[in-house]
Amino acid sequence: MRFIVQKFGGTSVATPEKRQQVAQKIIGAQAEGFAPVVVVSAIGRTGDPYATDTLINLAREVHSDVPGRELDLLVACGEIISGVILVNTLIARGHPAVLLTGGQAGIITDGNFANARIEKIQPGKILEQAKAGNIVVVAGFQGVTRDGEVTTLGRGGSDTTAAALGVALDAEYIDIFTDVEGIMTADPRLVEDAQTIDVVTYNETCQLAHEGAKVIHPRAVEIAMQKNIPLRVKCTFSNEPGTLVTNQGELAEVTGIQSDRLITGIAHISGLSQIKIFTKNYPDIKDVQMKIFKALALADISVDFINIYPHLVIFTVRDEVGPKTVEILANMGFEAEIQKECAKIAAVGAGMTGIPGVMAGIIEALTKEGITILQSADSYTTIWCLVQNDDMAKAVRALHRQFGLNKA
Ligand code: ADP
Ligand code: MG
Repeated sequence: MRFIVQKFGGTSVATPEKRQQVAQKIIGAQAEGFAPVVVVSAIGRTGDPYATDTLINLAREVHSDVPGRELDLLVACGEIISGVILVNTLIARGHPAVLLTGGQAGIITDGNFANARIEKIQPGKILEQAKAGNIVVVAGFQGVTRDGEVTTLGRGGSDTTAAALGVALDAEYIDIFTDVEGIMTADPRLVEDAQTIDVVTYNETCQLAHEGAKVIHPRAVEIAMQKNIPLRVKCTFSNEPGTLVTNQGELAEVTGIQSDRLITGIAHISGLSQIKIFTKNYPDIKDVQMKIFKALALADISVDFINIYPHLVIFTVRDEVGPKTVEILANMGFEAEIQKECAKIAAVGAGMTGIPGVMAGIIEALTKEGITILQSADSYTTIWCLVQNDDMAKAVRALHRQFGLNKA
């Protein structure tokens, strides 16, 4: 069978009219000869009656410390509700369909509630239902442990479900349908004239996603990449081709030449605190550095953007855990300086490798706008800058312009 996995996000299934458009995409794929396996997210966003956050708030109204196991059981209902409604929409249009929960679809995870990892997929039931001629709808974002406990996969989990099913079924395509035209050169909510990227490599997409481009979850990209399954990001509400995510070789084939773009896109993450520890007064510096990161790991604080110098350690944490980080460090005898409300901007592009002057271009663009760079780092394909939250939008727009990413 020619499988295609089609994932529809929360905004795509939010209203009856939108669900008709979703059904149209599924029926269209079927007409092209595909066996569609459809992954759905919960309906809508916070405030909508069956959205994930609405369900969480409902439970927390009673007592804020909901056990992880029960919380997962609760939020897993969001995708099940959404799935049933979609199945019924398809049936009403004369297309037989069934809904499978994550567990029924054979998605086996570890037991890490709220952030479970898929261990394997046993697609027996999906195959059975597809062979019987049914459109198979799978509730996204959820799985089941070996001993039957319902788990969820964390934010963006439906993307991961779709990618994992695509690999397990050896699908021809994994299509991620959303409310924008594809992966764009920057978040269109920030940059009005951002453009849709036609083709992009798995690696660049993964980088952009890690650095805050929330249009796709980085884990989903990694999974699709393992088996080289073409991933497409498309809009539910249009017929544009969207973005094709593929490997370097195929990218060259599609574009005809080795891509000459320096920067592919700009991503951003806000709500970060920069922590600075002056370690000059401590004799055994290596020991100090190790102690700091061990203590933070033990407290489950994830640190990012780490720069280590002989007399200085700098890193970022999420704003929420900033005060706790400072406290832990103080208890260890370290005095830390904290700068709250920062944002990390990342310029990503495989084309920058070995090309001089990219960093100079970034500095030029930001200083022209009067933006202070608090910290920076670079790798082969990404350059990062930390700025104040207040400068974030201006910084993203400045870099977007600097590298000619605006619509012509
Ligand atoms: P879904 O509900 O379909 O999963 P998400 O809200 O998770 O949708 O992701 C889509 C949103 O991602 C878009 O509305 C857009 O604002 C945002 N986004 C951020 N960065 C990018 C980018 N580089 N390209 C496209 N969309 C982006
Ligand atoms: Mg999403």
